[in-house]
Parts: sequence; structure tokens; C-alpha cells
Amino acid sequence: MGSAHILELKNVETFYGKIQALKGIDLYVDKGEIVTLIGSNGAGKSTTLKTISGQVEAKKGSIHYNGEDITSLPAHKTSLVGIAHVPEGRRIFPRLSVKENLLIGAFSIKDKKVIETRMKRVFEYFPRLKERLDQKGGTMSGGEQQMLAIGRALMMKPDVLMLDEPSMGLAPIIVEQIFDIIKELNNEGMSILLVEQNAYQALHIADRGYVIQTGQIVLEGVGTELMTNRQIQEAYLA
Ligand code: ATP
Repeated sequence: MGSAHILELKNVETFYGKIQALKGIDLYVDKGEIVTLIGSNGAGKSTTLKTISGQVEAKKGSIHYNGEDITSLPAHKTSLVGIAHVPEGRRIFPRLSVKENLLIGAFSIKDKKVIETRMKRVFEYFPRLKERLDQKGGTMSGGEQQMLAIGRALMMKPDVLMLDEPSMGLAPIIVEQIFDIIKELNNEGMSILLVEQNAYQALHIADRGYVIQTGQIVLEGVGTELMTNRQIQEAYLA
């Protein structure tokens, strides 16, 4: 009994109306791992994360977190159990300040001291956010907004951090900074599920990777092995 996996999906199927986006996804993340899910546009990467975080419902299959069945847990509850989801396109609140955005991430925390400590920690990762506390989220650069979105997720001190295309639209140097932070969070024990179209960079930092195609996992393996796989090189690393 009891699996070592912190997160495990078994045969997960997800539909949007009649459209089947996930056709039986099996994947797991072990404690302390960075796992990446790569695939082209429309393959089902975002849907996988949304299904885990409870934004969309799994019609079939199961999702376990720390051995507990969370298949039907709604989104506002998955964040409470320890899973954070940084969505594609960041989705920060553009009219709210950096500080207000971070406070929204800590919505369920009543203890002001805890909030303060967490915010301090976020500023250690992203000093830029501290410098811009009162700036409106919407006026930040793309990279800063990504930092804010990750910072907001960190306010809940998650055990599993799910990131949906954090590199999207960002300059290479900013992507490097974001990936460095992801590695740092992982070194401190956080398990990471990273969705990326930027397969090279994702596989580079990942312990393991999965390739998803039209709602199905078609390949899985150790990050560095997948990087040298010819099929992957042709499809995603060209
Ligand atoms: P991208 O990198 O373009 O975001 P993705 O791999 O994240 O792609 P998903 O967004 O998960 O792909 O989409 C998987 C499939 O589900 C696609 O065929 C998409 O058109 C469909 N889909 C996604 N969201 C919806 C929705 N709200 N309503 C209907 N179909 C949807």
C-alpha cells in the first residue's frame, strides 16, 4: 500500500462537451522531482494541469495526491491541499498592485505573520517584486508578470508547483532566470510539473519527461534520454 508518488494520474479522460481532450493519461510525479510534459499546440498539456487542479473535471480515471484521491476536488480546494497552478498567460490581476496580487495568493491564510514571512520569501526569489510592490500588475513586463504569477502561487507554500508554459513570450535571458528559480525551488524540495513547448530547456532541467500527443502520452523517459531521442529531436527540438 501507499505509493511514493506525490501526484499520480491514472487513465484520466477529460472532455470539453463532446470533444475529448485527454484520452487516458497516466503520469506521476515523485517527491522532489521535476517532471515535464511537452507536446505541440492543442495536445492537451494545459488540460492536464487544469484537470489536476480541478478547473475541469476528469470524466474517467483517478488523480491521487500524497495517496489521497483528489479526482473530484474543485480548484479552490486543490490549492489548499498543496498543489499550486501557475496558468498559461500568467493571469495576474492587471488592475491590482503587485502586493494585492500576492495577497490574493494567500487568500486562505488568516495569520498576518505567516503572510509576511511568505511574502519575504517570495521577495528573496524575486527581488524585483519588492521594488515594485505598488505597481499595477498589468503595467509590469511579461517577465515580471510571470515572476508575480509564480510568486502568487508560492504564497500558499505548495508541495507541488505546476507551471503552464512559463517561458511563453519571454526573452531568453528572462527564461533562464525563471528556470533558475524553478531549479532553486526544486532544490529546496518542491516537486514540479512543468508544461512547456520549449522542449529543450524543459528537458534540460527535468528529471523525467512525458510527451503528449492528441490527448495521449506517447513517450516517457529520463529528461536527458528524451533529449537525445530522434523522434523528439525531429518533432520538438528542431
Ligand atoms: P497549447 O500549447 O496550444 O495551449 P495544449 O497542449 O495546452 O495546447 P489544451 O489547451 O489542453 O492543449 O487543448 C487540448 C484540446 O482541447 C485542444 O483540441 C483544444 O482545442 C481543446 N480545448 C481546450 N480548451 C477547450 C475549451 N474550453 N473548449 C473546447 N475545447 C477546448
